[in-house]
Amino acid sequence: MIYHSTRNKKEKADSKEAILKGLCDDGGLFVSDRLREVSLDLNEISGLSYKETAKKIFSLLLDDYTEEELTAAVESAYTGSFDTESITPLSSIGDDFLLELYHGPTCAFKDVALQMLPQLMSKALKGSGKKILIVTATSGDTGKAALEGFRDVDDIGIIVFYPYKKVSDIQYLQMATQEGKNVEVCAINGNFDDAQSGVKRLFSSDACKKLSASGISLSSANSINIGRLVPQTVYYFESYKRLCHENIIKPGDEVDFCVPTGNFGDVLAGYYAKLMGLPVHSLIVASNENKVLTDFLTTGVYDRNREFRKTISPSMDILISSNLERMLYYISGGDCDLISELMRSLSETGRYEISPELLSKVQEIFKSGYANDRETKEAIRRAYNDTGRLIDPHTAVGYKVMRENKTEGIPCVLLSTASPYKFCKDVYEAIFDEKEKDSAGKDGFYYMEKLSEGTGTAAPESLRSLKSKPVIRKDLIDIEDMGGYILKKAHEDMIF
Ligand SMILES: *Cc1c(COP(=O)(O)O)cnc(C)c1O
Repeated sequence: MIYHSTRNKKEKADSKEAILKGLCDDGGLFVSDRLREVSLDLNEISGLSYKETAKKIFSLLLDDYTEEELTAAVESAYTGSFDTESITPLSSIGDDFLLELYHGPTCAFKDVALQMLPQLMSKALKGSGKKILIVTATSGDTGKAALEGFRDVDDIGIIVFYPYKKVSDIQYLQMATQEGKNVEVCAINGNFDDAQSGVKRLFSSDACKKLSASGISLSSANSINIGRLVPQTVYYFESYKRLCHENIIKPGDEVDFCVPTGNFGDVLAGYYAKLMGLPVHSLIVASNENKVLTDFLTTGVYDRNREFRKTISPSMDILISSNLERMLYYISGGDCDLISELMRSLSETGRYEISPELLSKVQEIFKSGYANDRETKEAIRRAYNDTGRLIDPHTAVGYKVMRENKTEGIPCVLLSTASPYKFCKDVYEAIFDEKEKDSAGKDGFYYMEKLSEGTGTAAPESLRSLKSKPVIRKDLIDIEDMGGYILKKAHEDMIF
């Protein structure tokens, strides 16, 4: 399997190089023209466990890893870290299905990929004598999932920066109690954008050059890495298998998937599964009020020149959906010149437009819709009242959009991307329609208990136990000191 840039077929890499690099030198994303030739026989995987299916898919898409490497990586990623043997269980929500992707250590779907990526990176580094320092800015969720994935992985260290006092109580405690000998967590004086620009500047800083001279390269592990994308294809196959096992469908029948979407990574993995032969009918792309994708998928115009909205589904508050570039590459039949042109237009004007012919090809597969915050809360209440299911705000956006877009007679699987207990206050208020008049002094744990009592469900152990864990990460610095901080941590405090 040879990977190359979406913008240029000459920039090539095998999967280990692509995983270590993340992004191509020309700014494009790594893709492989052999994806359509890879076909996974559903009969062959029918009797396999999650881990075995994962290994099978990795051996096809990441074929320069040895079988031993993949076995070891899959075992480390998925043993003991998820609270269920099936990793991503499938359950019912009314007449439809919920693919529960939140059973990992941080209770959100990013765990599925971020438990695996560090293992793949570490195996790719072996024998090179090199080390990697992951630096990431987080508004709350991704940073924690990355910390859990990279903790105690050989030859890799990780530093996560978050905006001081601007993450939720629970998110703060999740990070401030983080264990692991190769991890550091640091608050910065500023907001999330400051933290993110600070991290971007680190990549061209003196600190980066100094680290590089001692064999340590910086990396960001973000969601365009194929090492994050490939693990996400696995659960599409897994959910299909389970629908077959339960006689909901027969092998070969088509299924719809509805995906709460931000950066287009999760839904792209569904498209990859379709290209690899999974009988996917439609992929329904659900957005919140930052509905760049809904507009694009209905008009063919991608336009990020609009107001950024903060919503109650914050992990989908995104105006540039980076992974869309890969979908356009495949849909256009691998037209690198077109992709380069579109992406140049996006970076120069914030906008691009595809032809009506291309748009209709896109629309054959992708449907779309969006929900504002009011509709999202209504969907949470409705799901609970009509089906007895407790869903988080991201999943609720999907629930609303699924109901508007599903096809009669075709089963629909809704990807549930976070535990409702990560967003206790919004979920509690949505269902019980109670605004606390005096919310002062009422922290995340207060709402966790209220939600648990009110619905007779239990919060995940990893969130409940935060209350009694010691806070061990107390660093707080100014933005200007980030370079000095990573140098000191990488050298003196030996996070490696
Ligand atoms: C990241 C995230 C999403 C969006 O996934 P993308 O791959 O960025 O489209 C949806 N829900 C939750 C809870 C997330 O953390």
